[in-house]
Amino acid sequence: MSFKSLGLSDALLKAVDKKGYNTPSPIQEKAIPQILERKDVLASAQTGTGKTAGFTLPILQILSQAPVLRKRPVRTLVLTPTRELAAQVYENIKEYSEFIDIRSAVIFGGVNAKPQIATLRNGVDILVATPGRLLDLHGQGALSLNSVEILVLDEADRMLDMGFLRDIKRILNLMPAKRQNLLFSATFSKEIKKLAGGFLHHPVLVEA
Ligand code: AMP
Repeated sequence: MSFKSLGLSDALLKAVDKKGYNTPSPIQEKAIPQILERKDVLASAQTGTGKTAGFTLPILQILSQAPVLRKRPVRTLVLTPTRELAAQVYENIKEYSEFIDIRSAVIFGGVNAKPQIATLRNGVDILVATPGRLLDLHGQGALSLNSVEILVLDEADRMLDMGFLRDIKRILNLMPAKRQNLLFSATFSKEIKKLAGGFLHHPVLVEA
């Protein structure tokens, strides 16, 4: 199995090649085609399995195939439990989008919000965020989630462990109902299944 046979564009293959990856990991092999088909995905994957590229690459492909919207509203939201993970996912997105015209940004708490607000004002296609700062900046009118087409909950189990369930529910209500949803979690507790059941539509199950 090769990245090319998964249906990724030349610009993304070039970025993957630059990272030095030769073959897709199991989660990438299973998740990428499903995401490209615009399916909701419920994925069980630990850190280290290559899950980040597993959702980032197909999302970049989907966004880069559509015409750029003039004001660049947020079209993909990636929610993560911690600022470290947010920063890491953002770094990955930047690397994989080197050869395409897609803008991304990351926002998280504990740092000055002003530069984040300025970045958002310029328009971003993909926003990586922790829940608290996202709601904070949304409340200030610094961003809109009205144009979100794809939502990713990364490390959803850790988000619930950290008490973000209410924030997640509030964020879900700020987005259009018609969108693609991807949920990644290392474990599947009753709570995760309940959360997934509440917003994923006929999800494809994918295991690393
Ligand atoms: P993740 O599980 O997304 O945190 O990725 C774990 C590590 O695996 C990261 O350092 C990635 O750069 C690397 N990685 C992701 N996909 C591949 C691949 N197909 N081949 C080799 N390394 C990879």
